[in-house]
Formats: sequence, C-alpha cells, structure tokens
Amino acid sequence: MKQMLTIALLLAGSLSAHAKLNVVATLPDLASMARDIGGDKVTVTCLGKPGEDPHYIQPKPSYIVALNKADVLIENGLELEIGWLPALLDQTRNGKIRPGGPGRVVASAGVPVLDLPTGPVDRSQGDVHPGGNPHFLLDPDCGKIVAKTIAAGLKQAAPGDAAAFDDGLAKLLARIESAQAEAGKLLAPFRGAKVVTYHKSFPYFVERYGLVVVGTVEPKPGIPPSPSHLAALGDRMQADGVKVILQEQWHETRTPAVVAKKSGATVVVLPTQTGGDPAATDYPATIKLLAEKVAVALK
Ligand SMILES: [Zn+2]
Repeated sequence: MKQMLTIALLLAGSLSAHAKLNVVATLPDLASMARDIGGDKVTVTCLGKPGEDPHYIQPKPSYIVALNKADVLIENGLELEIGWLPALLDQTRNGKIRPGGPGRVVASAGVPVLDLPTGPVDRSQGDVHPGGNPHFLLDPDCGKIVAKTIAAGLKQAAPGDAAAFDDGLAKLLARIESAQAEAGKLLAPFRGAKVVTYHKSFPYFVERYGLVVVGTVEPKPGIPPSPSHLAALGDRMQADGVKVILQEQWHETRTPAVVAKKSGATVVVLPTQTGGDPAATDYPATIKLLAEKVAVALK
C-alpha cells in the first residue's frame, strides 16, 4: 500500500513537472513577455494580432477553445478589451480565469495610470478610454512593472516553477532595461519636439521621452473627426511647426494625410506591438524599434 502510494505520488510529480501551463494573452506584447518569462514551462496563445486594433479585436471560435483550456489569462486592463473580451468569456466555462480568479492577470495593476478621468465618467460619446489611458506598454518603465505582474501571475498558477519564472523575469527585465537605454539615447535630441497622433495612444511614450502631443486626429479616443476638428488641427500644426503625425498600423491614413499636407508634415505609421514589423521580434525589440522609427521621422 505504502509502495503504491509512493508510486502514485511519483507519477503525479512527474506529470506536473512536464505539464506546461496554458497561458492566453490578449495582446502580442503581453504574449511576448509571458513567453520570455515562462520559457519551456508555458504554452502561450495570443488572441490579438500585431496589426489589429486592441480595442476592437475580432473574436473567433478558436478563442473560446483557447480560453476554456487556459490556466492563466493575461489581459491589458483599463477597459482596453471591454469591447470584445467579456463577450468571449461569457461563452467559456473556466473558473480559473473569471474576474478575480486565480489565473486572471491584469497587466495594468501597479501601473501609474495617465489620463485618469477627473469628473464623472461619461461613455455617452463613445470614448474608449473612460477609466484612464490603457496604452501604457509603449513606456518601457511600465513594461517592467507589467513583466513583474505577469511573473507573479505565472508563479501563482504554477508555484513549482517559481524559480524558472524568476530567472525568466530577471533576463527579460535586463533586456527591457537595455532597450530603454538605447531608446532614450535615440530620442534624447528630440526632447520638446511637437507631434500630432491619430489616436490617444502615445501619452506614456511622449512622457517618457519628453515629446509633446499638440493634438490628435480623433477628437476623443474612438471618435471619428469632424471636418471642423480637422481644419483646426491643420491650423494648429502649421502654427506649431509640427512635422509628423504618428499613428498605429490599424488606423486609416487618408484623413491624417490630408491634414499633414496642409502643413507639409508626414504621416508615420509605427509598429507599436510585437510582431508589427519583422524587427519587432519581442517586447524589448519593439521598444527599441519604435524609438528608432520616431527618431528617423523627427530628424
Ligand atoms: Zn485607445
């Protein structure tokens, strides 16, 4: 009997030692960090594609399958995924990843949030940032906080692999640090440079590197511009000598091109997520590439 118990325990031990943690991440940057931290202890599935607007990801039946199997779900938080993730989770039966469940990791936890609403939150105009700006991954300092949050989530789900996750985290933090130092050097000459952005995606980025956003093509996040808004934006760009409109890969370029033409500016489409460019191989590489592209545009 004692021998059988020992064999059973050994078997259970060897099974758990080889069972990989199933991790689902909503965004490519979060998936990249989970892969780097988890190494061969995790299998990572990413729902959003690099060129897909994280506010409006198209749900697929395969996402429900992945969520049903997930031990851990990593989401950005701050309502970035509110338009699509809750509806998918309604169709899954997986207590581990329910809100507050042991496998639910919210990347925004611990991040110093920008654009926090000062008055009552009003979604009536369709603003997609009602709880503060959710685009914190464009600042590597926030990225480091997120990496630690993800590592803590993985450790909670698989305490036996804690040492491996700590090791993966330390290596990732060192690489983010080095990418951040390079990005800082590249953008140092442009402190105070004025830019316009399409969506309000760059507050964390410009705060980190000392750029100044003087206007956005969207009057409010997620709201299409009116002709009068665009006319005023064009005037502002001319008056301020703005040379670039920065935007992500999922926004149309026709409207910003018309505004840019008026003041001789250029529209710069940036790979803002892991996988958005062949060189954006992971989160640290994306941070560095983004800085390189912005520096080239501002020259
Ligand atoms: Zn947004």
